[in-house]
Amino acid sequence: MMATILLVDDEASVREMVSEVIRQSGHRVITADSVAKAKAIFTSQAIDLVVTDLVMPEQSGIDLILEFRQIKADVKVLAISGGGGITGRFDYLPIASLVGAGAILKKPFSINEFSHKLEELLNAN
Ligand SMILES: [Mg+2]
Repeated sequence: MMATILLVDDEASVREMVSEVIRQSGHRVITADSVAKAKAIFTSQAIDLVVTDLVMPEQSGIDLILEFRQIKADVKVLAISGGGGITGRFDYLPIASLVGAGAILKKPFSINEFSHKLEELLNAN
């Protein structure tokens, strides 16, 4: 099944790399570099799954999950993060799970790890 994936990350290099993996998996990808831009896309297009970074300069991926769940309670979210804040010592991934991310993945990850998580979540009910 071809899905439409919304990919949100403030880092261009991550957007490029992950977009390529999503396309190679046979899916359509739309990217956004901020939660605000992602929200505009999410409210105007049919999105099957959201892949979001957690640490971003304005609103965080945690904000995204909370806001998107207000719009669509069963939104599928795969959270990707390398850790937290400026120090990198705080791990936001468990918090993403608590607020509703269906899957989490720590950066850096392999193409196989990402594809596996993506398909698993796409196929989940
Ligand atoms: Mg980031």
